Amino acid sequence: MDKLLNDLVAVVGSENVLLGDDVSQRSVDWFTGAPCRAKAIVRPRNTEQLSKVMALCYQADQLVVTHGGMTGIVHGGEASPEELVVSLELMNQIEEVDLIGSTIQVQAGVTLQRVQEAAAEIDMQFPLDLGARGSCTIGGNIATNAGGIRVIRYGMMRQQVLGLEAVLSDGTVVSSLNKMLKNNAGYDLKQLFIGSEGTLGIVTRAVLRLQPHMPSEQTALVAVPSFDALTQLLRRVSQQLANSLSAFEALWNSHYKLVTTESGKHAPRCRRLAFLRDHRNPGA
Ligand SMILES: Cc1cc2nc3c(=O)[nH]c(=O)nc-3n(C[C@H](O)[C@H](O)[C@H](O)COP(=O)(O)OP(=O)(O)OC[C@H]3O[C@@H](n4cnc5c(N)ncnc54)[C@H](O)[C@@H]3O)c2cc1C
Repeated sequence: MDKLLNDLVAVVGSENVLLGDDVSQRSVDWFTGAPCRAKAIVRPRNTEQLSKVMALCYQADQLVVTHGGMTGIVHGGEASPEELVVSLELMNQIEEVDLIGSTIQVQAGVTLQRVQEAAAEIDMQFPLDLGARGSCTIGGNIATNAGGIRVIRYGMMRQQVLGLEAVLSDGTVVSSLNKMLKNNAGYDLKQLFIGSEGTLGIVTRAVLRLQPHMPSEQTALVAVPSFDALTQLLRRVSQQLANSLSAFEALWNSHYKLVTTESGKHAPRCRRLAFLRDHRNPGA
């Protein structure tokens, strides 16, 4: 083992510096199952350990790739054999839930679903929602500025983050764990990290906004004959439902066929009602 790996073991323990099969058995792409090729995976437990890991890598000129839940679909977590992966999987604590302030403070490796569940326990909701909720992490959601299905009402991840803490490439800890909604004190540095895909530093903790729980939810599947009709429908329901429209998704013919007929699954009985067609591209 080289000197850097020995130094990393001294910081996080040998059980948290993964090598060989423990690395290659992990996948970096859930579409293809492609194996992780990094030279090692390091798993710090807290910001202090992560800061030391990054300082050691900086001194050794070691390139680092960050792993959250590895659900990203643009290969941001791929690492070459010369690169080292820092995984946030052990930094998964919910640190504080504040009912009065409507905030939750978490370590960045906690999954989106656990945050949603913690909010539900106090009759609140964390509105960001997407299909990968059980695996994706808050750090990954911040790094990708994730959108999800409720953007139309609550905005992207950027709108959910009140404060964050990050570790820079040389190990410096930048902390702005603001909990206030009304805060006009100077530069808002957290915005730089949101959507930066790990290029500026590793997000380690965050303060997130919670929203009131909605007592009822109605879902409608509507068939429309043209794209113009689709946009008119959106305009109409936006006006009539005012601020209570929380999601609006268009389903194209090709996608509809894939998830019903071609997947071998049965089409829903209201098949024709579920069909949305874009007349600009009738072959799609
Ligand atoms: C079924 C499914 C549905 C999805 N739906 C949506 C959707 O509706 N809207 C949408 O926007 N996205 C969607 N996505 C993609 C979405 O961006 C990711 O699922 C999620 O935000 C990434 O989180 P992750 O923890 O898995 O990050 P990873 O995949 O592990 O990492 C993604 C990127 O962020 C970096 N990163 C990860 N953690 C950190 C950290 N702590 N600090 C700094 N950088 C970090 C990584 O290096 C990488 O570049 C979907 C994905 C799947 C699989």
